[in-house]
Amino acid sequence: MMTRQKLTVLGATGSIGVSTLDVVARHSDRYEVVALTGNSRVDVLYDQCLQHRPRYAVVGLGADVAGLAARLRSAGLATEVLAGPAALERVAALPEVDVVMAAIVGAAGLQPTLAAVRQGKRVLLANKEVLVMAGALFMAEVKRHGATLLPIDSEHNAVFQSLPSNYAGNPAGAGVSHILLTASGGPFLEATLERLQSVTPDEACAHPNWAMGRKISVDSATLMNKGLEVIEARWLFNLSPEQIEVVIHPQSVIHSLVQYVDGSVLAELGNPDMRTPIAYALAWPERIAAGVAPLDLPAIARLGFERPDFVRFPCLALAYRALRVGGNAATVLNAANEVAVAAFLDGRIPFLAIAGIIAATLDAVPVRPMPDLAAILAEDEAARAVAIALLERQPA
Ligand code: NDP
Ligand code: MG
Repeated sequence: MMTRQKLTVLGATGSIGVSTLDVVARHSDRYEVVALTGNSRVDVLYDQCLQHRPRYAVVGLGADVAGLAARLRSAGLATEVLAGPAALERVAALPEVDVVMAAIVGAAGLQPTLAAVRQGKRVLLANKEVLVMAGALFMAEVKRHGATLLPIDSEHNAVFQSLPSNYAGNPAGAGVSHILLTASGGPFLEATLERLQSVTPDEACAHPNWAMGRKISVDSATLMNKGLEVIEARWLFNLSPEQIEVVIHPQSVIHSLVQYVDGSVLAELGNPDMRTPIAYALAWPERIAAGVAPLDLPAIARLGFERPDFVRFPCLALAYRALRVGGNAATVLNAANEVAVAAFLDGRIPFLAIAGIIAATLDAVPVRPMPDLAAILAEDEAARAVAIALLERQPA
């Protein structure tokens, strides 16, 4: 029997975490779950522990640790229950762990993901906010510690699959002209500005092609998700902003493309199901079944493409702006977006105010360099404070 790869899933209770465990369950001969983490969904984590029997389970600081530990014990499990940020870092860095799925949402994922990188693990990165807020530092740490970084975000996974295996962050050497990130356009692709004034959180979270967590669903509706992905691509593939183009493709069948200097375009296609990029990254450079149905092109019949509308979707332009400005700008953009999206989901601000708050935060925070992790965390905190102050000035 082959030795099983030992796995930590950060954010196991979320959409990506659940899809990851679905793929893992299909290949119990290849993967062994060592640690699962959640934050508030303790019942989901409990069920996952029953199925995967991890050595460790981590919950948020506010969760009922003793209750979960008692339930697991009465179910006959020896799973140790831990809580909080230090425990997340601990289970990401365990010496026995080979692979870490980084699927926490938002800035909370930065330090546990860095902890895995610093142990030279194979890191499967879904948590795109990590690269948006700390791209330069994160990529330097990947290099320094010899970690293997594999993108889970479907667009970046498609680009990764469409680049030569010896690419090594060298677009010119590989004859790459630019990449095209596809965007479904989200639920409001056809909506007028007037309609966008009144959209509700549930409408914004009803994505046409993908079932995802609420924060990324809102990001998809504003197109900030694509903006974050432009920044993510800059770091993953060492490209300039000019080498990253966004094209609206409502069917989400082409997951992204690479344009080469000779006119060739390579792409990865498939049904929109995150188990494909997850299985790809788990098994890379091999391939394993993911439970995803084969693509039925005649049933899809037509693929459409259009240019993004930067007027109705200003968040995409804000992300390019932050990327061009450099320094702390992307960290500020990410922090302001997290604050504004949470406020929208709580019904405190209208949909169109999200972009306004991010733009005003970028205007208010001076551009500064970010020499180290402490500076990044300070910028994140400062930008959140500015965004919260701006929120309080919003008409309800
Ligand atoms: P979900 O909201 O479904 O899941 C988020 C996970 O993070 C949950 O396990 C949640 O725990 C945990 N979590 C939330 N806050 C904290 C915190 N402060 N500390 C520790 N853990 C926390 O999100 P998704 O799975 O949709 O997305 C996860 C990441 O993957 C995001 O960065 C997203 O952009 C990215 N991504 C997602 C895709 C998708 O299809 N869903 C596609 C591409 C990228 P709990 O639920 O228990 O509270
Ligand atoms: Mg994506």
